[in-house]
Amino acid sequence: MKIAIIGAGLSGLSCALTLEKHGLSADLFEKQKDIGYDFKIAQLMTPILHAPVDDMIQFLSEKYDIHLKPTTNIQKIHVHSPNESASVEGKLGFINMRGNHKEAYEKQLADQLITSRIYCNHHVTHEEVSKEYTHIVLATGETLDTDQIQPFQIDFKSTIVGAIVRGKFLRTEVHTWFDTELAPKGLVYFLPHSETLGTLVLIYPQYDEMMAKKKETLWSIALERASYTLKQSLTIEEDFSKRDYVVGKCQYPRIGNTFFTGNCFGAVTPFLGFGQTGSILSGIYAAQDMCGIGNYEKLCKPLYKDYQDSQVLRKTIERLSNDQFDFVTKVLRVKAVESMVTHKNNKSLKMLSHLLKPFSR
Ligand SMILES: Cc1cc2nc3c(=O)[nH]c(=O)nc-3n(C[C@H](O)[C@H](O)[C@H](O)COP(=O)(O)OP(=O)(O)OC[C@H]3O[C@@H](n4cnc5c(N)ncnc54)[C@H](O)[C@@H]3O)c2cc1C
Repeated sequence: MKIAIIGAGLSGLSCALTLEKHGLSADLFEKQKDIGYDFKIAQLMTPILHAPVDDMIQFLSEKYDIHLKPTTNIQKIHVHSPNESASVEGKLGFINMRGNHKEAYEKQLADQLITSRIYCNHHVTHEEVSKEYTHIVLATGETLDTDQIQPFQIDFKSTIVGAIVRGKFLRTEVHTWFDTELAPKGLVYFLPHSETLGTLVLIYPQYDEMMAKKKETLWSIALERASYTLKQSLTIEEDFSKRDYVVGKCQYPRIGNTFFTGNCFGAVTPFLGFGQTGSILSGIYAAQDMCGIGNYEKLCKPLYKDYQDSQVLRKTIERLSNDQFDFVTKVLRVKAVESMVTHKNNKSLKMLSHLLKPFSR
């Protein structure tokens, strides 16, 4: 068995690590000159979206012997609507760095590899590597690469605008803003990664009716609102933006001996556009199949289910007016509702969908 992994990102590296733990190794091809995107960004992993696992870091460590060190753990998530604010408290997940940051998750994963080889500066195609390798893992993070081999169902594309900002922050507290003026059918969120630095992100779907909106205008409103809520003037250190970020899924997780992992599989869930958990898990599952200890298609089923639940939530959120956002935020302040959303082992995504159901009509 000769295994090639195209893309040394979250799913490709998790796959390689799992292969090694079962006595196999792989060649990883990475198009960049180093591991990680060419910009810095903080990202979030929260059990609210992926219950029943409460602590993904502990889970990956204990179950798969994959060890990740997040930047901070989250104790509080503030939810802001146009005129209301609420917060949920508890063990709400982790913030980690990605890209060209020295503690980026992809760097941490690469450091744990022993026998596999990473070939940086190697931009390869499926066709090229298939001449030499018996098994291929498509882990490029690009759904267009999947589309060359099988249809990739696109549910929508998003625009993401963000920046690393400087200020004075409580590092265990995340902020989210739901407001149609600020992020039409989307949201703005702030992830602190130290007492002085944080990542502010605006994300919204590129539906036809949104094309008239200028991302620069929305971003400046987002920055202003975040500064107002956080009671300080935020200074931009480094910014980034991405258009056409695809949310969708592939039809077949595996075709022949080609495995589709991470974004190439459809790991990005529709509600918030988050895909780290699904990417790491799909990489692990693909490796388990190659090692003969699992069936990739079967292992991926819960990921498809998460996707569907998340899609229901997105559709509901998209229908809410600002008055309804205010109402839902007020409801969140009720302790019983807060604990329902954050309760251990609950299917929180389902709970949230249920809570918002009255507004979907
Ligand atoms: C701005 C932004 C913010 C996000 N925020 C969050 C968040 O807060 N929480 C969350 O859970 N998710 C978030 N996500 C999603 C998450 O980053 C992805 O779902 C996840 O990184 C996908 O993992 P992957 O392995 O599929 O691809 P990646 O981790 O992107 O890795 C793919 C790798 O393949 C390489 N590559 C591409 N093509 C080739 C080729 N032809 N040959 C060789 N190498 C190639 C790339 O250079 C890259 O290193 C965010 C995404 C973006 C863009």
